[in-house]
Amino acid sequence: MARVWRRLLGVEHTVIEAVELEDNGAEEEVLVARVRPTRSRRSRCSRCLRPCRGYDQGDRRRRWRALDVGTVKTFLEADAPRVSCPEHGVVVAAVPWARPGARCTTDFEDTCAWLAAHAAGSVVAALLRVTWRTVTGIVTRVVADLAGRADRLDGLRRIGIDEIAHRKGHRYLTVVVDHDTGRLVWAGTGRDAATLRGFFDALGAERAALLTHVSADGAEWIHTVVAERAGQAVLCLDPFHVVAWATKALDAVRRDLWNELRRAGRTEQAAALKGSRWALVKNPGDLTGEQRTTLAGIAVTNKALYRAYLLKEQLRAVFQANSAEGRALLAGWLAWARRSRLPVFVKLAKTIDRYRDLIWNTLDHGLSNARSEATNVHLRVLTRRAYGFHSPESLIAMAMLTRGGLCPQLPGRA
Ligand SMILES: [Zn+2]
Repeated sequence: MARVWRRLLGVEHTVIEAVELEDNGAEEEVLVARVRPTRSRRSRCSRCLRPCRGYDQGDRRRRWRALDVGTVKTFLEADAPRVSCPEHGVVVAAVPWARPGARCTTDFEDTCAWLAAHAAGSVVAALLRVTWRTVTGIVTRVVADLAGRADRLDGLRRIGIDEIAHRKGHRYLTVVVDHDTGRLVWAGTGRDAATLRGFFDALGAERAALLTHVSADGAEWIHTVVAERAGQAVLCLDPFHVVAWATKALDAVRRDLWNELRRAGRTEQAAALKGSRWALVKNPGDLTGEQRTTLAGIAVTNKALYRAYLLKEQLRAVFQANSAEGRALLAGWLAWARRSRLPVFVKLAKTIDRYRDLIWNTLDHGLSNARSEATNVHLRVLTRRAYGFHSPESLIAMAMLTRGGLCPQLPGRA
């Protein structure tokens, strides 16, 4: 019977003293398993797991939320004595079923974190009967635990540095992505040289010297810090940022035209134009039949807007070409944009000309950014996730969980 309960509760190195249903009055009935660590696991420091001298009884009995048994909410209950560790001082003794300081068992936390990475927040909260705040707290602890087991900055060669807005664009994170794996390897709060120096401090001079390529979005402070800490690395411009600049310029042309039509009282045409945004910004291969028709209409009736659209598409084509062809296409694009009679594109041509060397680097070194772009898109979606994150740290933990390879396995699976 003890073996069955150990399996059901998913505990190891644990003695189960009793299992009882407890009526909590107004609340539902809960299952409480009274447990203790086996002799070999008793009286160990919760920080370093070294056997230590007992200190006192601590706050005596404590409960940990465990995974439901069937449909019944379940808790483990045990003494929580304190020990005196020569290195860590007086700390609560380690327990085999939970992480230090946790209010839930390791199995419960791992399940919660796995779910948070794979399902909507509302699903996780309803299924596990916890608040979203509890979920983000658990994710933060699980990620810190997994991150502490391996150095994630080892073996970096080609990285992308980016800034992500959160809190409706009022706050920023600086993130570092490994181009070769697509993984998020580092994130810090803020977007400035000091934040990025934090990354290079963690990386250390020896590993920074091994970086061969660094891509970024053109922000000066990124270039400055990379030159100072990894001067040997080739600086590149992420193609998806460059294409995003063109998409923004295209949007500006469309908005100006819309305002013009409205002021001229041509409300019907203005309304039609308003619905055309997706036809213009989506990649041609992703357009629906209706959007193709919209685009064909624009080609006939709005020459300027259609020119802006073609300029955006042509710039995208630059990065799909090989290096020599890409350089030629870029030169052609710059000439075309300069005489496009579209002020935003004339301005964009100036910007792109200024970064031409970095774009050439991108083309010459074939820095495929499909993976880092996917990570970038994912992080932007994450910042808009329902429930939100009450601190940048919990947002970073969630990003590391879903894009940093720090998601635990579901417990009890081979
Ligand atoms: Zn210790």
